[in-house]
Amino acid sequence: MAMQCTAHEHACIVRKVVRILLPMSLMALHDISPLAILLPQRDVRNQELPATSVVMHITGRATYLNAERRRKHPLIHLGDSFGKEDSSFAHYSVDPWGQIGCTAPERERPWAQGWGAFGGRRGLKQKLASGALEVPAWWLEYWGTFDDCMSPLDLLIDPLADSPNDRSVAIEFIQYGNQFLLTEAQYAAGYSLLHDICFRNGILCEPPYIRGHEDTDPWGRGTKDGGWDPGARRVAPRFNWGVMFNGLIEASAGMMISTPPRPEWAPHLNTNGNPTG
Ligand SMILES: [Zn+2]
Repeated sequence: MAMQCTAHEHACIVRKVVRILLPMSLMALHDISPLAILLPQRDVRNQELPATSVVMHITGRATYLNAERRRKHPLIHLGDSFGKEDSSFAHYSVDPWGQIGCTAPERERPWAQGWGAFGGRRGLKQKLASGALEVPAWWLEYWGTFDDCMSPLDLLIDPLADSPNDRSVAIEFIQYGNQFLLTEAQYAAGYSLLHDICFRNGILCEPPYIRGHEDTDPWGRGTKDGGWDPGARRVAPRFNWGVMFNGLIEASAGMMISTPPRPEWAPHLNTNGNPTG
């Protein structure tokens, strides 16, 4: 009788532990892409709901050139900057050779594409209503074809989101030196990462759920000639969404550069962010 009771208690404890630990482990697994290597994490878990959008960015040339000058791996260099407490940050960075680094779990609210410069959503709404800001023609040319899409405010389709940062995953492509175009390896990595994020978070892999920084901020991330972050909405585009959505690399002639050889100061990294071999 005593044995039965102990076995029963034992089974109860096991069930309780499984009930608590299993969801926690699934949460952890689903929160970071298995395609990424882990860099030091910005981890305050300030966003408990899964992401509903993905926003893509390209760095300025300084990120790569400063890393090169310091002979520091671009993923580590950018990761260090993202790791500072008051710094802007994306969840993922993709180096020119297609390696992906993760600096924050996806449920972390990024600081990458907000409307702080306009006084948040309310400020932007006021500026648009008063005419202090106008939606650029190049923005309307693309987004105007979507139902009821008159300004970047209408891209905030998630009713629980008050800023483009809310419930979003941010991906930063590291521009290769003075080039404006992504490398072939960056497109291949971006395509895989995007589809992985969409699958795990249940996001429809198409616009407006997937967009660029220039789409949410055409003023700060564009000129009258078009956007530059990442540079899809312009007369001579620098970024090809077709490759990201459909993987049609061969259809992107003139919109990517071939992958350069890795310099020895930027070796391939293992899953913990250390050089391999
Ligand atoms: Zn950006």
